[in-house]
Amino acid sequence: MILGVIADDFTGATDVASMLVRAGLRTVQVIGVPDGPAPEADAVVVALKSRTNPAQEAVRDSLAALEWLQAGDARQFYFKYCSTFDSTAEGNIGPVTEALMQALDTDFTIACPAFPENGRTLFRGHLFVGDQLLSDSGMRQHPLTPMTDANLVNVLQAQVQDRVGLVHYDTVAQGAGAIGERFAQLRGEGVRFAVVDAISNDDLRAIAAACVDLPLLTAGSGVALGLPEVYAAQGWVTPDASAAELPSVGGCAAVLSGSCSQATNGQVQHWIDAGWPALRIDPRELAAGRPVAEQALAWAAAQSEPVLVYATSRPADVQAIQAELGVERAGQLVEQCLAQIAHGLVENGVRRLVVAGGETSGAVVQVLGVSQLRIGATIDPGVPWTQVEGRPLLLALKSGNFGTVDFFSKALQQVP
Ligand code: ADP
Repeated sequence: MILGVIADDFTGATDVASMLVRAGLRTVQVIGVPDGPAPEADAVVVALKSRTNPAQEAVRDSLAALEWLQAGDARQFYFKYCSTFDSTAEGNIGPVTEALMQALDTDFTIACPAFPENGRTLFRGHLFVGDQLLSDSGMRQHPLTPMTDANLVNVLQAQVQDRVGLVHYDTVAQGAGAIGERFAQLRGEGVRFAVVDAISNDDLRAIAAACVDLPLLTAGSGVALGLPEVYAAQGWVTPDASAAELPSVGGCAAVLSGSCSQATNGQVQHWIDAGWPALRIDPRELAAGRPVAEQALAWAAAQSEPVLVYATSRPADVQAIQAELGVERAGQLVEQCLAQIAHGLVENGVRRLVVAGGETSGAVVQVLGVSQLRIGATIDPGVPWTQVEGRPLLLALKSGNFGTVDFFSKALQQVP
């Protein structure tokens, strides 16, 4: 293993993993910290669920992940957080970074959530989402991690003991050598955390090259894009053009959707409009104790084409159901039903399964007993096909807002 990644949430883990695969690293994602040894791969990504946890819990989980990854002899470690740096003054990015640095006995690291391909750029220490400062974007109203300051030097400084510094864009634009010199200068001044500007993929590559000797990087998924090239130049790894290849598994295909996001509503409608088989799950039927999952499985078994089973509804309908059943109960009934259907579909021969919704994906992964995923080709930014390690089963797990309107059929076409 060359690189050990600790990701603070599930879809974030898949995002960084697909970035590494794209550049030729054979990458495996594990869900939580496994009991056994690290799998055979160039990069291993541990998916935690720590983004909004209190700092103490996040530190504990991250250190456990680090310890497990260290047994795999990785040359570099990477703490992956969101490209919108989701955390408040009480947030855990700072404390987790400090704890990882101490465990790795290092006194310097970077902080760079930039992901220009998705509109996240960092200039003069300020994070932009598209054309807006982070603090003017929708992130200002985030229910869990409202971001009211776009100056990441300030945001991070509020979370750590030692000094935070900045590598200006002017320096980044001069390339890896200049960035490295600035690191040395900051380090000499007692700075331990360098926020690094980046507005393009070339900047991310230069940053990755300048970080080659750092035991720990902290970043969004963007910086990972430059790492495989750096490792290859060091002779640590030979990038594998077929790293994203997954075995052909045959069998049937299906789509399950429990996300009610705008993007997913569009994707479900697109499937229905195309005339492909689709079945709607009604939470009221579930609450009434009807055998909805059994009926859905019988219906699916009678179809000759890939099916879509969905609970996806428009906001007004979701609100009505939630008012009737309660938010949590409605969510749980639907998640349990879709998980039961996933289990039945796989028993009935489905080998390629697309799941829409972060929580829904979590429920499906759990019922299928999945602990390791090998990462394959990207379908849309941030969503790759994955193979359940050691099983002839492919999963595409899509968080709510990702994917183009034809995502479901596009995903299935990629793995015929
Ligand atoms: P996203 O990634 O879009 O946030 P999630 O799967 O994480 O999707 O969350 C969607 C939640 O909404 C899940 O708990 C799901 O069970 C629930 N849900 C799905 N359909 C309905 C519905 N028709 N009414 C109420 N809740 C629903």
